[in-house]
Amino acid sequence: MNTLLFSHPDCLDHDTGYGHPECADRLRVVLSALEDEAFMFLDRRDAPLATREQLERVHPPGHVTALLDAVPADGHGSIDADTVLSPGTGKAALRAAGAVVAAVDAVCGGEARNAFCAVRPPGHHAEPDQAMGFCLFNNVAVGAAHARATHHVRRVAIIDFDVHHGNGTQTFCEQDADLFYGSTHQWPLYPGTGSVKEKGVYGNVVNACLPPMAGSPEFRHAIQTQLVPALDAFKPDLVMISAGFDAHMRDPVGGLDLTEDDFVWVTQKLIEVADRHAKGRIVSVLEGGYDLRALANSTAAHVKTLMVA
Ligand SMILES: [Zn+2]
Repeated sequence: MNTLLFSHPDCLDHDTGYGHPECADRLRVVLSALEDEAFMFLDRRDAPLATREQLERVHPPGHVTALLDAVPADGHGSIDADTVLSPGTGKAALRAAGAVVAAVDAVCGGEARNAFCAVRPPGHHAEPDQAMGFCLFNNVAVGAAHARATHHVRRVAIIDFDVHHGNGTQTFCEQDADLFYGSTHQWPLYPGTGSVKEKGVYGNVVNACLPPMAGSPEFRHAIQTQLVPALDAFKPDLVMISAGFDAHMRDPVGGLDLTEDDFVWVTQKLIEVADRHAKGRIVSVLEGGYDLRALANSTAAHVKTLMVA
């Protein structure tokens, strides 16, 4: 079975202003890298807009309304110093969450083995009731909630290898025994959450903290000795990935030392987990990654690995 790619031109219209690291060029270079002939058999789909019902499985209705109402008709608005709104932000955010919903439908519906969502704004810092850290809606959480609500999927694991801790995704998961959140991230770093002591109400959260400058050996050791055993114990019906590539050595925001090979390796490990427990089903979602060359190459390597799963 094939790999699907979900994206939408509307995601380019979220304009964060001059010099902002989370810029539209990120998505442009990712999509351009995926135009290579190696991706000839990648099945491309336009992301639909997420519906209110889909968003409200994660975010309170009043918050969704307030967020969409805050989108300016012209110029820029902001939620906080990092989280900027432009006229195109509302549609971009709805496409980003809608991509993950559609990817879940395709993968859980047996139409594809796995899927990658090339979207922005990213989502893993978005709390149910607070947009923050470049993130509006928690795209991966909206997808996980959709899988459980509509596909008889009981247990969903979300693995997050972005250099930052996905505080919003952890909040979504930590009080639900049928959700698992596992993260490797630099520690200490924004947003300050994700200590090893945060384990979830049911032991269903694993935070593998990496010190600044940590590279391939530390990263692979954390995945192999902490995340993979926890995933095997959890036995997910669906594996979701918060695929941030800002742990790459070239990244200007993160301070870790990973390369494309590490992203290929972790993708392979997660494919093995999905094969053991989840009929191979993986939905992967773009999060961070701010060096354009590293982002393009790392995303291409990740998607190529999903395609040979
Ligand atoms: Zn990040």
